[in-house]
Amino acid sequence: MANRYDIAIIGGGLVGASLACALAPLRLKIALLEAVPLRATAQPSYDDRTLALSASSCKILQGLGLWPALSGNATPIREIQVREYQRPGLVVLSPGDLGLDRFGHVLEARVFGGAVMDRVARIEGLDFLCPVSVTSVHTGDPLATIEYSSEGKTHRIETALLVGADGANSFVRESLGIEVEKHDYHQTAVICNITPEQDHRGRAFECFTSTGPFAVMPHVQGRCGLIWCASPERAAELTDLPEQEFLNLAHQHFGNHLGRFLKLGTRSSYPLRLVRALEDTRPGAVILGNAAHAIHPIGAQGFNLGLRDVAVLAELLWNESSKGAGAEFGSKALLDRYSNWRRQDHRETIAYSDGLARIFSNPSRLAATARTAGMFAHAFIPSLRRQLAVRAMGFRGRIPRLAMGESL
Ligand SMILES: Cc1cc2nc3c(=O)[nH]c(=O)nc-3n(C[C@H](O)[C@H](O)[C@H](O)COP(=O)(O)OP(=O)(O)OC[C@H]3O[C@@H](n4cnc5c(N)ncnc54)[C@H](O)[C@@H]3O)c2cc1C
Repeated sequence: MANRYDIAIIGGGLVGASLACALAPLRLKIALLEAVPLRATAQPSYDDRTLALSASSCKILQGLGLWPALSGNATPIREIQVREYQRPGLVVLSPGDLGLDRFGHVLEARVFGGAVMDRVARIEGLDFLCPVSVTSVHTGDPLATIEYSSEGKTHRIETALLVGADGANSFVRESLGIEVEKHDYHQTAVICNITPEQDHRGRAFECFTSTGPFAVMPHVQGRCGLIWCASPERAAELTDLPEQEFLNLAHQHFGNHLGRFLKLGTRSSYPLRLVRALEDTRPGAVILGNAAHAIHPIGAQGFNLGLRDVAVLAELLWNESSKGAGAEFGSKALLDRYSNWRRQDHRETIAYSDGLARIFSNPSRLAATARTAGMFAHAFIPSLRRQLAVRAMGFRGRIPRLAMGESL
């Protein structure tokens, strides 16, 4: 007979594992299915990426009980400098404008993976099924079914709610017949850690170039996380350059804001595309995180957006669980409430990062003039800077309780 769960989450990456933690206190029967073991070098979610997490995301992680394990490795962002490569204008965002002392924190995805998986292993009632290969998912009334294979054997489970958190190439999304809008930016992000000569003092630097942003994030032990977006051909060359040549070129590109670049970590690259699902629910099923919206890393919004998905879904499931035996975790009413609540944040955040990515790669003279005017407007008009700062904090639309620092 098939094992029966209240909630089955497919994808144990940043978003799926966070959702499992958010649901831990509900003491439900949960299955978390993940294709790649945590410590495998091929684990795509928990790699060397430095993630800029907004203040609201840090609050959510506190509510999930993860923050004590993360805070020692998290670097506060105390200032954000935005400029355009080889053009005038500098916008300096300060959390002090909003009466705070930091925008959020920078954290390595791998560190997050270690902490979240330690927590997942201790969740009562949760079966962590990993590594597994999910072969089919079907929604049904009232239960969805999932088939997966593990160690050569095929298994079948049933669940009241099926959650697809399996990333941009989501098998769940495709199996549910959810259409997507795609846009290829023809850019690849090269990421690595660098150690600059001078102390970063919590400053994050975002420099827009015609082939995408060049961002330097403050990180632990004097290091910085570098994200360098370039054409796919150029990115391949950058990845293959000898270390010293790469450091010299990166320094030349960035300028002397932190002195010379002294040390380099491992380089990895990510082709950049927008993948946006046109719907996010089906009867008894929901997709979230990158499965619903994989966006350009410009503005560092992706995981922050996914964590807000987690906070909203968790809040709705918490409310539903108060009905006891009558709780229907996959009900249409609950899923409609989720979609309606998330719609505005999805639309605005996707439009923001997509708009930035496109306007800064537009070579026309008109676009360049508009960009410079925008830079100066933000530099001199405090209310515009304030709007940007609020976005960097991640407080958008109706705020779920976890993002306000309340527990559920
Ligand atoms: C260069 C770069 C820099 C970024 N910087 C930031 C930043 O500073 N701030 C920020 O907020 N966001 C940032 N992001 C975005 C962030 O990385 C994503 O939003 C985040 O990874 C989404 O998490 P996810 O769990 O939805 O998907 P993923 O991270 O893709 O995880 C999906 C998981 O599902 C598993 N999986 C896939 N298919 C299956 C299957 N069939 N069965 C079982 N498991 C499966 C995968 O193994 C993986 O573990 C950045 C992204 C890039 C590329």
